[in-house]
Amino acid sequence: MPELPEVETIRRQLAPLVEGRVLSLLEIADPRWCLPLAPEVVVDAVAGRRIERLGRRGKYLVWELADEVFLIMHLRMTGTLLYDPPPGTPYGRVRFGLDDGHELRFCDPRRFGTGELALGPAARDAFFAARLGLEPLDGELTGAALRRMARGRRAPVKAFLLDQRRIAGVGNIYADEALFRARIHPLRPAGALTGAQWEGLAQAVRETLLAGLAAGGATIDDFRHADGVAGAFQDEFLVHRRQGEPCGVCGTPVVKFVAAGRGTYACERCQPRPRVRRRA
Ligand SMILES: [Zn+2]
Repeated sequence: MPELPEVETIRRQLAPLVEGRVLSLLEIADPRWCLPLAPEVVVDAVAGRRIERLGRRGKYLVWELADEVFLIMHLRMTGTLLYDPPPGTPYGRVRFGLDDGHELRFCDPRRFGTGELALGPAARDAFFAARLGLEPLDGELTGAALRRMARGRRAPVKAFLLDQRRIAGVGNIYADEALFRARIHPLRPAGALTGAQWEGLAQAVRETLLAGLAAGGATIDDFRHADGVAGAFQDEFLVHRRQGEPCGVCGTPVVKFVAAGRGTYACERCQPRPRVRRRA
């Protein structure tokens, strides 16, 4: 699934191409995309409006349109937003026409991606307040903030990192990579981490996301840039999807196990597994 660096890569590519243009046409071929709203309602609200800014919050892409109308997209598992895709590009669900003759196509083989409408900044803020926590690259992500949120929580730290209501934009790839950089085992109970470990983890999350962004995101299955090019961060993974390969720090083979319900990768020498507490 595209995570923060992938969505931000698309945003940075598209922003200069769409900002200041008019969204002259919106064609919703798959009405499931904007449920519970009917496609006509979304089209009526956005078509013909000037695109003031293409923004991002967590893994959401936000079209900020004239008169404070916001179209909020989530790419989910397999969604890509392509600029002037070649004819015959499959799985198109939504077409965005610009007043300069160019177009964008939202292609999404598994059809989990969504488009939602917020009318006015208060509606937009309420939408995100209900769904998203700290924005990790905005300076809000500190060890102290994480430690406060995790106090008393026994869930594994990996589950904590994946919870979008705490930190927005981190998914399975960046959680594994950040925990490895911070030398913390994914199954450690979140509430048991020390202040120094939270500081290290906050820094590791930022560094990992920035490294992903610098590589144009990761392409494992479907993620593509707006011009159809794949990201390269998968070539730089330290542990994610590297089961059996030697850890770059200590040479111990990387192991795979399930944490927070997700396939998880770690070096159990650099990231010692928490001891199971036994009853006396
Ligand atoms: Zn290691």
